[in-house]
Amino acid sequence: MIADRLDAFAALLELQDANPYTIRAYRRAAETIRTSVLSVADLVRSGRARELRGIGPGIEARLRELIETGQIAELAELERELAPDLVGLGRYLGLGAKRSVELARSLGVRTADEFRDAAAAGRLRSVPGIGAKTEARLLEALGRAGESAPRNGLLLNRAMDLLRGIATALDGEPAGDVRRWRDSCEHLSVVCATRDPSSVLSRFAELPQIVAVLDRDDRRAIGVTIDGVPLELITAEPERYGTALLRATGSHAYVAALEPLPEAPEETAVFGALGIPWCPPELREAPFRGVPPELVKRTDIRGDLHMHTTWSDGRASAEEMGRAARDLGYQYIAICDHTPAVGAVRGLSPDDVRRQAEEIEAANEALAPFRVLRGIECDILPDGRLDLPDDVLSELEWVQASVHGGQRMPAREMTKRVEDALRNPYVRCLSHPKGRYINRRPENALALDRVFQVALEQRVAFEVNGLPDRLDLSGDHVRAALVAGVQVVCSTDAHSTRGLGNMALSIATARRGWATAGDVVNTQPLDVILDRRRR
Ligand SMILES: [Zn+2]
Ligand SMILES: [Zn+2]
Repeated sequence: MIADRLDAFAALLELQDANPYTIRAYRRAAETIRTSVLSVADLVRSGRARELRGIGPGIEARLRELIETGQIAELAELERELAPDLVGLGRYLGLGAKRSVELARSLGVRTADEFRDAAAAGRLRSVPGIGAKTEARLLEALGRAGESAPRNGLLLNRAMDLLRGIATALDGEPAGDVRRWRDSCEHLSVVCATRDPSSVLSRFAELPQIVAVLDRDDRRAIGVTIDGVPLELITAEPERYGTALLRATGSHAYVAALEPLPEAPEETAVFGALGIPWCPPELREAPFRGVPPELVKRTDIRGDLHMHTTWSDGRASAEEMGRAARDLGYQYIAICDHTPAVGAVRGLSPDDVRRQAEEIEAANEALAPFRVLRGIECDILPDGRLDLPDDVLSELEWVQASVHGGQRMPAREMTKRVEDALRNPYVRCLSHPKGRYINRRPENALALDRVFQVALEQRVAFEVNGLPDRLDLSGDHVRAALVAGVQVVCSTDAHSTRGLGNMALSIATARRGWATAGDVVNTQPLDVILDRRRR
């Protein structure tokens, strides 16, 4: 709850065009608090809040105010001034925050409901700058409230935090795209079993995450968040909960092919009554009634082969990363810092690589029998050569090759560039192969079917990068790799010890590509990993 208030504060500051650094600081603090194992309220009361990463004196003062008085006065003030439900509704309609506020002022309305009434009464056209076409578009968008998705979905990790918070508050369960671990989530839904739907629906409307309710009937409601994301709450009688959960999980095509669904309290019982095996949500995209494969799971993973340290753009040392990975139950990690061509951040020269070896050796002494491998995330230069000489690469135990600059190359050149790099005898894995940033940058033009052939000959694996804005390979591409016979590596590309937690996202993405433990390199013991070196 404390974290949600800080997030709300950050969102409102953003509407005010506040300093982006301040906004980021509040978001980071919210994340820290969300993942803290200690009670933040206790830390604040005993004056120790600043022991948490990212909590400075300014944020500490806000936290103290929130815990002592139950609110942040400036947040309450901003909420009055900026009418966040209006802004949320405006975002949902495709209007910027400022435009929403201007529009509301011209109409003389203060809430989302008043805005809807004014629109329905035909008053939009009285606003300067709104012509018949814009009015029609807004009315149409208001009319299909919640049925359609916003243009861009939420990144999976954000959507997951949001839905888990709401589900916990209402004693329900996340469904929709989040339960299927889609990389960008558009259909957000929470399902609750209850005999008293109206009280659950009222609690939903009061949640800090929900700024306006767009639509409500006896059993379900559609709310909108401050970011303008619509979110559906579904309540079900306990006897029908399993059926409601299955339906709300989707995908639409998958569920439609199973209809009519029998009613049952548990999802497994619905599948049982249909006479088909339970299907993991990650596989519920296209219609499927068969026996699902035994998908890879978190406990199959023995190590993480892509992470950074303070030698490049990471925040922790090799030993700190190793200790955190050991606490997660792993047997090994590979430290893969950048090389100089990466540009924006520090990259390791051949000299640096050799000096880093001493740090890694010391980490191995401290953590034995856990193993920290000497690795590298070596840039693939525009001409397909690697950014470090072969004699340096030959010393390393795990070499990732990555395209960073020049993602927009035409398909022929990009494919040739990567093929050449994969033919280097020391390369074990291609990092984030399609170079995408979800909802921000399209995939590069790499012809995967061609590079899969080279990867197969050269025994190079393809990464499933677990950074929430990458998730690259995607589920579909994982499946294509496996069909081609290429193995994948589930990695976090962690830049901090916390970043190691993104393994869940990588694994889920591999599962969406139907990967079993045998398809994933880092389910293997260390000697098998090291044996992948070509001699
Ligand atoms: Zn990279
Ligand atoms: Zn990296």
